[in-house]
Amino acid sequence: MRSVNPNQKFSYDEFKRDYVERKMMFHRKPSIAYCKPFRIFGNLYYIGDKRVCSHLIDTGEGLIVFDSGYQHTIHLLVQSIWEMGFNPADIKYLIHTHGHFDHFGASNEFRALYKCTTVMSRVDTEMLRDKPEGALMELSSDPDAELPIIDKTFEDGEIIALGNTSIRCVLTPGHSPGNSAFFFDVRDGKQTYTVAYFGGAGFNWVRKGFLDRYNFPYSLRNDFIKSIDKVRGEKADIVLGSHPGQYNLFEKRKRMEENPQSNPFIDPGKWERYLTGLKARYQEFLVNEE
Ligand SMILES: [Zn+2]
Repeated sequence: MRSVNPNQKFSYDEFKRDYVERKMMFHRKPSIAYCKPFRIFGNLYYIGDKRVCSHLIDTGEGLIVFDSGYQHTIHLLVQSIWEMGFNPADIKYLIHTHGHFDHFGASNEFRALYKCTTVMSRVDTEMLRDKPEGALMELSSDPDAELPIIDKTFEDGEIIALGNTSIRCVLTPGHSPGNSAFFFDVRDGKQTYTVAYFGGAGFNWVRKGFLDRYNFPYSLRNDFIKSIDKVRGEKADIVLGSHPGQYNLFEKRKRMEENPQSNPFIDPGKWERYLTGLKARYQEFLVNEE
């Protein structure tokens, strides 16, 4: 999705026109977003595309997948799962980082075909029910966009466990009311590293224009800051996000290919640096929007 220059005057109509135009092109040819999947570390894999992240954990007793991307890119995701040597039918949990259309688009299809349990925070699941337009957004202008059926919801701090993996789910409202962060360990038989995964981090959905349009409280703007501070003290070796640019996925992947002996994804200082940068950019955005 296009990032908006915070210094530019925001025109919703222009933004929407531009967005729909790009989206139609993307609809005609979703393969432009294909990204070769790869192992990030141990039992953690990148299976998303160039625009929206999906991650896979092999727990030893089934697979956990985070986010299902757009509905029309489902074949890219399925292809990536097979390419990494897994069968999508082994997905036990499909966990959604938050309730926005670009992250849950293919959820119902995965659920129908592979019988996985779909998961989302209770707060965002309620948003789907009470304010579906705030989840689908008219921006999606997508004839095949539909709301996901959520089988299991979680509260702040709840653990989702499967096989060798326990995922701690932490609410980080702001980008959406029930946006979430996730903390869990990954391993390769010798080493164990802790992953910190921040869900939605874009600022567009807390613009006053958007909040007004979808009737969300302005308090989400302050929640965004509080959420960053809430998870700041967590210890993490690997940082993930819900869009590739959020954690410099492609730059790290390139470095990994150039030097297979090193793993740039393992970076214990990254979480702190990431949140510091996010907070600074967010504060700048707030000032510029006034
Ligand atoms: Zn989002």
